[in-house]
Parts: sequence; C-alpha cells; structure tokens
Amino acid sequence: MTKTIIVLGAGLGGLATGIYAQINGFKTSIFEKNSVPGGLAACWKRKQYLIDGGIHFLSGYKPGLNLYNVFKEVGAHKAECIDLDIYARFIDEESNRNIDISADLIEFQKNLTTLFPKDIGVIKHFIKGIRGLSKSDFSEFGFKNPPELMTTKDWIKDFWENRKSLRYFVGKSMMPVKEYVTKIHDPMFRELLLYMFLPDIPIVFLWMVLSLVSQKQMGVLKNGSIDFARKMVDRFVELGGQIHYDSKVSDILVKDDKVTGIVLEDGSVHNSDFCISAIDGFTVIFKMLKGKYLNENIERRYKKWKVVDPFVSVNFGVNMEFKDDVWMTFIKTTDPINVGNKEKNFVLIRFFNYSKSFAPEGKTVIQVDFETDWEYWFELRKDITKYREAKKQLSKEVLSWLEKRYPGISNKIEVTDVATPYTYWRYTLNQKGAYMGFLPTTKSFVATVEKQLPGLENFYMAGQWSMSMGGVQPVIYSGKHVIQLLCNNEGQEFVTKDD
Ligand SMILES: Cc1cc2nc3c(=O)[nH]c(=O)nc-3n(C[C@H](O)[C@H](O)[C@H](O)COP(=O)(O)OP(=O)(O)OC[C@H]3O[C@@H](n4cnc5c(N)ncnc54)[C@H](O)[C@@H]3O)c2cc1C
Repeated sequence: MTKTIIVLGAGLGGLATGIYAQINGFKTSIFEKNSVPGGLAACWKRKQYLIDGGIHFLSGYKPGLNLYNVFKEVGAHKAECIDLDIYARFIDEESNRNIDISADLIEFQKNLTTLFPKDIGVIKHFIKGIRGLSKSDFSEFGFKNPPELMTTKDWIKDFWENRKSLRYFVGKSMMPVKEYVTKIHDPMFRELLLYMFLPDIPIVFLWMVLSLVSQKQMGVLKNGSIDFARKMVDRFVELGGQIHYDSKVSDILVKDDKVTGIVLEDGSVHNSDFCISAIDGFTVIFKMLKGKYLNENIERRYKKWKVVDPFVSVNFGVNMEFKDDVWMTFIKTTDPINVGNKEKNFVLIRFFNYSKSFAPEGKTVIQVDFETDWEYWFELRKDITKYREAKKQLSKEVLSWLEKRYPGISNKIEVTDVATPYTYWRYTLNQKGAYMGFLPTTKSFVATVEKQLPGLENFYMAGQWSMSMGGVQPVIYSGKHVIQLLCNNEGQEFVTKDD
C-alpha cells in the first residue's frame, strides 16, 4: 500500500521534500499557512511594481555544475536567470572611491591593485583562492548524500572527487573573514570583504561565490524569487503531489512516541504515515513537540548557535531608470542613516534594473536593506501606531539620503513599502525573522545536523533549520536528503527520476 507523507510548509525546503517524496512513490500532501508557496522566497505586488523580498543570487540554474542536476530534478532549472557580469559594486562615500567586483578576475585584480596598492599580498592571495576554486566543480561537495548515510568509503570517494578543491576547505581558508581582514591596510578593502557577505563566514565562502561568478555560474532571477518557487510547485503537482494553502499547522500528533499526523488551526486532524517538518525548527521542537525529543547536540545548537540577524528592507517603485547602477551596490555612507534604534553607515541597495518583470518600461524598483535588531521591531509592533510611524520615518530617512545621490528622486516615487523583521516573521514564522536559519560561521560551516529527533518515530526535518546554514542550495538538498533517509529506513531504494 502507498505510504503517506505530510510536509509542513511550502517553502523551497518543503517543496523539494515533496518532489523527492513523490518521485519515490509516497503520497505527499504539503500544508502551507500562506495562500502562496515560496516562504522566504517571497514577492509581492504594489500597484504596477513587483517587490522581491527574497533570494538575491543563486547558482545551479544551468548545465556545467553537478548542482544543475538537482535543480533539474526539482524543476527549478525552468526559472529563468540572468548571469552576473559584476557581482556587486562597492562605494565608499567618504574617500569617494568605488570598485566593481567583476566576473573577469583579471579586471577585478587590476581594480583591486589600483585602489589598494599597499595590500598587494592579500589581493594576490584572495584572487588565487577564487581562481583555484574556479577550476573545479565543488557544488555538491558534502551534499551528495545525507551525512547519516555516509560510510567511510563514501567520504573517501567524496574527498577524492573533490580533491582539486579540498585544500581550500582546510587550514587558513577556513579563517573567518573578520580575522582574514586584519592583515589588510586599507579600511575600504577591509570593509569590502567584511560586507560582501557576513563577517563570521570562512574566507573560502567568498572564494566559492566569486569563483562561481567568474565561471558565469551565478545569476539573478529574471522573474523574481516567486517564479523559482512556482516552478517547483509545477513539478510537485505534475508528480501528483497536493498542496493545501491557507492551512496553518498548529500541532503535531504523537502517540507512544510515534508521530501520527497534524492538527490544523481550524481544528481538523490529518493523519499520515510520516510527517516532515520544513518550518521553523524552534517552533516544532520546543513548542509543538514540547522539547521532549532532544539530545545534547540539538540542545546546544538551538540554545547556543546564533541565528542570522534579520533585515529591514525599504522598497521604492520609482518612475526613473537606473541603467548605470549595478544590481547590487554596497555603500559605506559618510552621514549615518537612522534605522530604528541604531545609526547605520552601511547600506545595501538592490536595483531591479535587469528585467522588465519588476516595473513597467522606464520605471524601476529599488530596495535598500539594512541589518537590524529583531527585538527592537518586535517590541515596537506591540503598539501598531508607533510601529507604522517608525516605518514611515525610516522610509523618509532613506529617501532623503537617496535624494543626495539621485537628485529629484523624491518626486518620482510612486510606491513605498517597508518590510521589517516582524514582517518576515509574520509571513514565515521563522525564529526572529531569520532569513537563512543559523548564522554561518567557521564552525557551523562544517557541522552536520541530524534530520531525525531522538526517541521520536515517523518524524523528520528538512528546510533551513535542518542544515547547518540556510540558502537555496542547502534547503533543496535537505529535501533530497530527508527522502534518501526515509527510503533507507523503509528498506527502499532511493531514486531521483520519475521515469
Ligand atoms: C531577503 C532574502 C535574501 C536571500 N538571499 C539568498 C540568496 O541570495 N541565496 C540563497 O541561497 N539564499 C538566500 N536567501 C535564503 C533562502 O531564501 C532561504 O534560506 C530558503 O528559502 C529557506 O527555505 P525553507 O523552505 O527552509 O524555509 P521558509 O522559506 O521559511 O519556508 C517555510 C514555509 O513554511 C510555512 N509555515 C511556517 N509555519 C507554518 C505552519 N505552522 N503551518 C504551515 N505552514 C507554515 C511558511 O509560511 C513558509 O512558506 C535569502 C532570503 C531572504 C529573505
């Protein structure tokens, strides 16, 4: 008899889980609290503008990397992407200098050397790391199979297959960016590396990203994040899977330490042979399952590991074109901008100028993002009037700062939309609005996270809380891994193709 699976959440992790479950002969139902799929890969319409509040950039969308095969399996390869010629532009207002992080490594190295002649040694080392990794396909390194099923022989095979890139994942390459930059003389170069992603990640992470950019294997989504999720939904439905929208799961049913199903907010009960959670790990483990199924590792992870700091995102629909701006621009500002409870000197702007999907002809969406505090926005939201006032104030501050860079912009604004960490939480229920789960650090980068809880049967976890870090690639693999594990536990061969 066909066994049934209930998946909690139709984010990318839940969708990948459902797809692999259907391919492997399970009857799968996904329950999603929102009326649309995608979770953190979210877009929303404001008048004629499409605001993209999700995925910045991704790889795996075209042949040449092993990761592409996985994207193909889940249908995500059908989401159109545009290759990046420039990963980002970094502008230092104070010294009036800027640099483009070009896909062309010769040009990038030349730009770095011209701007930061005293740091020639670090520049050479940094570019060497990118070049070294660009010669091999590491896209599946550590992801091929769930760690729970890897034998010593499998690890040796994995290391052998990745031998060319292996040396970049040990020793000094694993140094956090914040430590790596201490050798740098020029403060602008230091900040360029620090803010390219996150200061706690190992330097090899930047090399990985930039090596993919240099191979033209890194792109942006032409039709926004939601298109990526919808392509996965198409694949899931085509395979016979069912999605129930507007269906918030309020509880997980457990009998004799075996999960038997779920309860929805409307009180309805849905039973299944297996449940796979692809929603916030804190809610599932500590609220729904009441913290009963833990071990030391899980407790440590949830109590000690930090989650990524959330964003506050100020979006404008502007009746202007920004043809000369780079899609992602980091700006170190001279004058600070008041972002709620803190002054910020660092701004990330996304110009959605690379596709007509976001705004009508001649118009553009621009998004100004700041890292911010969860607690501040969460407390503020208790008084809706104050919260709305703070959002308004922030958009005013940002606009008056933009006016200095783009004179006249204030009169061209047609839409303003502010998404706070509270918005991200309300929409996805992720702990503290965390957009990538746990904070990627040198330790978590190589850590493995179990997909089953001790003492609990018929229950698995996928999505960003089931991996050491979130992101599109890890959560899609989490869906694959969880079904590999389940098949293994059922004594069934795991397959990846429905034919
Ligand atoms: C602004 C931003 C930029 C990003 N940029 C990148 C990037 O450039 N590259 C990259 O790789 N990654 C990026 N990410 C991260 C990546 O998008 C996420 O890690 C990934 O999408 C998480 O997927 P998930 O399925 O694990 O979780 P989620 O997307 O959170 O999905 C969980 C789903 O479960 C639903 N849900 C929650 N609780 C319940 C409940 N009780 N009942 C029913 N349904 C429920 C939610 O509504 C949601 O749809 C970015 C994220 C954001 C927000």
